[in-house]
Amino acid sequence: MSKKICIGCGIELQSDYPEKNGYLPVTKLEEKGEHYCQRCFKIKNYGKYMPVRLTRDDYRKVVQEEMANSQLAIAVFDIIDFEGSFDDEILDVLREKDSIVVINKLDLIPDEKHPSEVANWVKIRLAEEGIAPLDIAIVSSKNGYGINGIFKKIKHFYPNGVEALVLGVTNVGKSSIVNRLLGLKKVTVSKYPGTTLKSVRNQIPHTKITLVDTPGLIPEGRISDLVCENCNLKMVPANEISRKTFKVSKGRALIIGELLWFKVLNEDDIKPIFSLYAAKDVTFHETNEERLEELLKTDRGDLLTPPCEDCIHDYRKLEKTKHKVIVKTGEELVFKGLGWISVKRGPLNIEITAPRKAGVIIRDAFI
Ligand code: GDP
Repeated sequence: MSKKICIGCGIELQSDYPEKNGYLPVTKLEEKGEHYCQRCFKIKNYGKYMPVRLTRDDYRKVVQEEMANSQLAIAVFDIIDFEGSFDDEILDVLREKDSIVVINKLDLIPDEKHPSEVANWVKIRLAEEGIAPLDIAIVSSKNGYGINGIFKKIKHFYPNGVEALVLGVTNVGKSSIVNRLLGLKKVTVSKYPGTTLKSVRNQIPHTKITLVDTPGLIPEGRISDLVCENCNLKMVPANEISRKTFKVSKGRALIIGELLWFKVLNEDDIKPIFSLYAAKDVTFHETNEERLEELLKTDRGDLLTPPCEDCIHDYRKLEKTKHKVIVKTGEELVFKGLGWISVKRGPLNIEITAPRKAGVIIRDAFI
């Protein structure tokens, strides 16, 4: 019997090992037509989470194999977690290959930000990484904004057709964009990271453009990857992003979920003003420095979440480090996979306690 492939995630189907990837009961596998593996079927129909069993090395191998055949890279980034969407593997491809960079989830950005402003900001940020794409497309795969623009850009640079490798870390919306471009709902889109297991090849109908959707890499440094799947879901903003403005003084502390916290070190006469942005299910709690330790020792899941009660104990065991940082007016402090702080009146002088693996960086203001 010839090999059958899952049309959702691209993995080879098998009916021998229910606990392995690509499983489908033999009766279903023998049916004619297109098939989804059991995992994609459950994600698609019941929104059920089925963990991925491919390692980061496996992901990497698939991407590297496909690289040789394609002339163009289409790299997808999440505008809400821009630095969290960076991965050295992907940035290296972009430094070498012609690319079109797609910035997704524009619908989550406040209305006053024009897409051309977003594009300029992205261009500068990418240049700092040594990347000069052929073009940048600002889109929302959720509402369809800008999707046709990606198609036009590909056609402009490759009028005779091209095989384009679609790259991106988990959860940036790669599969949603590929589906939009193909004009159908085929590749498995899920709120759970790592849904596409192998590369999935599809020709855009009535064109000579082939899209090769690669599995998502799990990048370094994303705090959302240090919690359980349910908390991960809560930390990826879906409909709106919440913002809260603080005016704080020395002696105060702020706890974000129970994911990380910081003490304000500014001298008494300066009260910095800053806004904190994150998914709406992430709590922000301001307290006194003396109360901080005590609060963190008690289980206050109602006040400090995520992590949830299922993953808090593992999260607390993660090695933590302290960093002192000074963020100036007009700068933003980014917590990869969580959110960012935009300093309105600075400097903001703080001591952060966060997991050692958490990516924390300062950038020029985006919002
Ligand atoms: P992939 O892992 O990169 O293939 O990402 P998916 O296409 O599976 O999408 C990951 C999550 O982001 C899902 O919850 C999507 O519904 C959501 N998502 C994708 N595109 C958008 C978008 O343009 N706007 C918003 N708000 N959410 C999006």
